[in-house]
Amino acid sequence: MNDAAPQKPGEANPHVTLITPSAPIATPTHGGRAKCLQRLVRLDLPVPRTVALSFGTVHRIASGELPDIRAMLDIFGAGALLCVRPSSEDPDWGGPGAILNIGMNDASCALLAERIGAEAAACLYLRFVQAYAIHVERLDADLFDEIEDPGEEGLAAAMAAYEEEAEAPFPQDPAHQLAQVLRSMARAWEGTTARLLRQAKGAPMDAGLGLVVQEMALGIGRGECGSGVLQLADSDTGLRQITGRYLSQSQGREALEQGSPALFLTCDPRGPSLEETAPEAFKALCGFAETMRNRLREEMQIEFTIENGAVHILDGVRVRRSARAAVRIAVRLAEDGIIPPQEAILRIDPHAITELLHRQVAPGTRRDVIGRGVAASPGAATGKIVFSAAEAQASAARGEACILVRRETSPEDVRGMHAASAVLTERGGMTSHAAVIGRGMGLPCVVGAARMKFHVTRKFLVAEDGRTLREGDVITIDGSSGQVLAGAPAMVEAALDDAFQTLMGWADTWRDIGVRANADTPDDAATARNFAAQGIGLCRTEHMFFEADRLTPMREMIFADAPEDRKAALARILPMQRADFTELFRIMEGMPVCIRLFDPPLHEFLPTDRAGLRDLAEALDLPVSDVTRRVESMGEYNPMLGLRGVRLGITVPEIYDMQARAIFEATLDASRDGAPVVPEIMLPLVSAKREVELLRARIDAVAAAVKAERGRGFDYRLGVMVETPRACLRADEIAPYTQFLSFGTNDLTQMTYGLSRDDAGRFMSDYVSQGVFREDPFHLLDIEGVGELLAIGAERARQACPGLTLSICGEHGGNPESIAFCRAIGMDYVSCSPFRVPVARLAAAQLAI
Ligand code: PEP
Ligand code: MG
Repeated sequence: MNDAAPQKPGEANPHVTLITPSAPIATPTHGGRAKCLQRLVRLDLPVPRTVALSFGTVHRIASGELPDIRAMLDIFGAGALLCVRPSSEDPDWGGPGAILNIGMNDASCALLAERIGAEAAACLYLRFVQAYAIHVERLDADLFDEIEDPGEEGLAAAMAAYEEEAEAPFPQDPAHQLAQVLRSMARAWEGTTARLLRQAKGAPMDAGLGLVVQEMALGIGRGECGSGVLQLADSDTGLRQITGRYLSQSQGREALEQGSPALFLTCDPRGPSLEETAPEAFKALCGFAETMRNRLREEMQIEFTIENGAVHILDGVRVRRSARAAVRIAVRLAEDGIIPPQEAILRIDPHAITELLHRQVAPGTRRDVIGRGVAASPGAATGKIVFSAAEAQASAARGEACILVRRETSPEDVRGMHAASAVLTERGGMTSHAAVIGRGMGLPCVVGAARMKFHVTRKFLVAEDGRTLREGDVITIDGSSGQVLAGAPAMVEAALDDAFQTLMGWADTWRDIGVRANADTPDDAATARNFAAQGIGLCRTEHMFFEADRLTPMREMIFADAPEDRKAALARILPMQRADFTELFRIMEGMPVCIRLFDPPLHEFLPTDRAGLRDLAEALDLPVSDVTRRVESMGEYNPMLGLRGVRLGITVPEIYDMQARAIFEATLDASRDGAPVVPEIMLPLVSAKREVELLRARIDAVAAAVKAERGRGFDYRLGVMVETPRACLRADEIAPYTQFLSFGTNDLTQMTYGLSRDDAGRFMSDYVSQGVFREDPFHLLDIEGVGELLAIGAERARQACPGLTLSICGEHGGNPESIAFCRAIGMDYVSCSPFRVPVARLAAAQLAI
């Protein structure tokens, strides 16, 4: 390092700031690299002398207004070799590559030759000539293809090639060299392609570039010289492990180049290491790395150079990390007392947590994308294509992983979904049948892949690029990105490790809004408990009838015309439901369980094909023609707005009576050998207070009857699912009949937009890509429209009944942005698919910190 007098603020060269512990360097004006280098200087680490150029200065350079270059060179002193590196606000936005060895000319080469040898000096000069030619003069890189010798011979050849192509001698004046380097880097940042690239990574239109000019530590020369990178944690796992590469006689990031003969850092059976080659330098380096970790409160990757045995720290960047490494790194920093636990919580992106809960396509793996749809249920799975539930089951019986491919799914497909590793459908959106069931089961699912052609009956599929895929071909569904991939890419497993559990435990101590799960089956409930849900916020009882042996009694009940037929059908269902509820109550051990009475969009339960009609005819002992006629007569023009939910309860009240009885009997059964159960019963699709009034009276009567029959008492809570706009607007008159309201934002979004939740997937991507919707409103709560209805509903309900419990149970309940809104309008809890519970717990904690 040279000892030129430090520049005083405001003096001589105001555009250029020497980095000292107290210099006015800030990320928003000089970029992250400059700010980080200042931190390293403050820590007294051996950082070569560095000056920072602000965004404004670099912008002016791009417009042709150069700062005082000679004054800048004076800061470094005569003969110093320099490098220039980009310093943007966010390193992920990219920027022009670093240019090293500025200042090399015939004279400095001769001087340097005395110090480090003629070949080494020529090597540095050659590198600079090449970099200058390619990046500053924009000459063809292949101009230097023939040069093999890295020393004096190569330099002579490179000089000749340069002079011939540039039709000028290589510039010798260091001030001219530096000015041209700064100008070319500043202009590269302002070019259209670079701007578009960084905007795609989230950079704003006017993102600025700072530059840092640093004195070179020479990685080439006498004694141990070289360069490399080091970090103390593994980027994939986050585990404590010294990793990195070091290459003797190298500069910049050469040690990281593919095929470079770089050394490992610590002793390694695969080859020689820096620890063995230069133990003193290695020890010093590890000490500096520890200091950086402790004082910068972050795992950093250090870029270093060793010059004649002495270590120089050129830069530090946050260690790149996978989602699982991010959790472990944050938790370890907190456990080591370097950051408080709440900061560890804040450092993890809740969306990224999803990656830990499911298998994923390994980062960096080449993806052969054959289709795209809605990323409906996260995780990735590979298997052979099957086109029916029966084939999925057969495949599972053979022990072969399969992907169930359907136009859309219905209850008849659920057993196939259980057997499959993933599901792909042509139709549907975030709240379609396949999506909701897939998320509940933790099954990767892509829906609405309408740009692929589905020939389900003829058993083939045409990819977006025209390739044909047949039954048995292997594909991969990536339900996290919505991509369909050909073949079997490498995967990484789910990672619910100790670090994850620790972080979740900390999150729970901070959050102030409850998190429950939507769970319909004992499996769902067990998953919900595993993820520490605080109860069940929505049990969709019609989903308990998706299994093959349950579908027929359900259909018989829907079909029954005469009261005695219905009574018989209900009598068959009652014990099934009682057993279902008893098991749920037992699994949840006294935690609240909110059971929604039947809300079957009838079309989902009616057979659609000949085989289904025949099965039903057999069960009912009727001719197929009768059954077909009846199915047709029950058909509705718009089943999602037809005889659903509470409307079924009003028109055929015996059905809800049966369910209420099953719930109450299960309450008493489960309370006998466990914690007392207080069931919550919820009425779906309510739009008028009279619906609630009528049904409340009937359910109270069933409760009284069960108490009398069993001679034992119990409590229960009645609630309404608010999922029609009218229920939001009239929440004040509905609330007094209830103890709780739960907003069903799937239907509420459908009705507010007048947008079919099952068909939206077909055109949603066009709507989002053209900016009509910022995001799929079935995925991210529409705060402006649907949100206003929620706010009105919550306010009116609370005004009428201040102690009322309010919650959300639509799919939005698991989305961090939507949770923020629910918390802001005073909801008590959110309820979401079991696999989204950890995401919700973390997001809720971040909101409370
Ligand atoms: C809703 O509409 O938000 C809801 C949770 O119910 P479902 O998805 O079963 O219609
Ligand atoms: Mg609904």
